Amino acid sequence: MSAFKSVEYRYCPQCGAKTCQKIIDNQTVKVCAAKCGFGFFNNPTPVVAVIVETPEGVVLASHVDWPQGVLSVITGYVDPHELPEKTALRETKEELGLNAYDPEFVGHYMYHAKNQLIIVYAVKAEGQVCLNHELDAYKIIALDKLKAWPGPTGEGVADWLRKKRRL
Ligand SMILES: [Zn+2]
Repeated sequence: MSAFKSVEYRYCPQCGAKTCQKIIDNQTVKVCAAKCGFGFFNNPTPVVAVIVETPEGVVLASHVDWPQGVLSVITGYVDPHELPEKTALRETKEELGLNAYDPEFVGHYMYHAKNQLIIVYAVKAEGQVCLNHELDAYKIIALDKLKAWPGPTGEGVADWLRKKRRL
């Protein structure tokens, strides 16, 4: 199933007319049949994932909506007009209460199920972990114990670990 089907837009959100499908640059686009100018291109949503490295190891945290025991790197949406490295530093402060610095780009990964472009950064961080309302557990995993997991954020962790172990 393509991610396109997840958003319907049967009616134009700008003028209320019906929409129709059009092929533009080999992409199926939903456009307003009344030609008011609306077009839905289903572009991926950028999401920043942050590998937070403290002197003790990498901080993994559990979202309140996740099953108990499931931990991952923190993620967050890019604010309007924000560069992703800023998002990485801001989210580390907001979600973990840690002061982050030295953001390092790791790679881009596609989360197909949600049509999200996952932009992975690694940051160094210091301070006392203080979780915000989105998170309810965390663990600090020593670098030699850290293992990647399937999925886009895990691929980022795997690439980062490979690069780090080569140094
Ligand atoms: Zn319209």
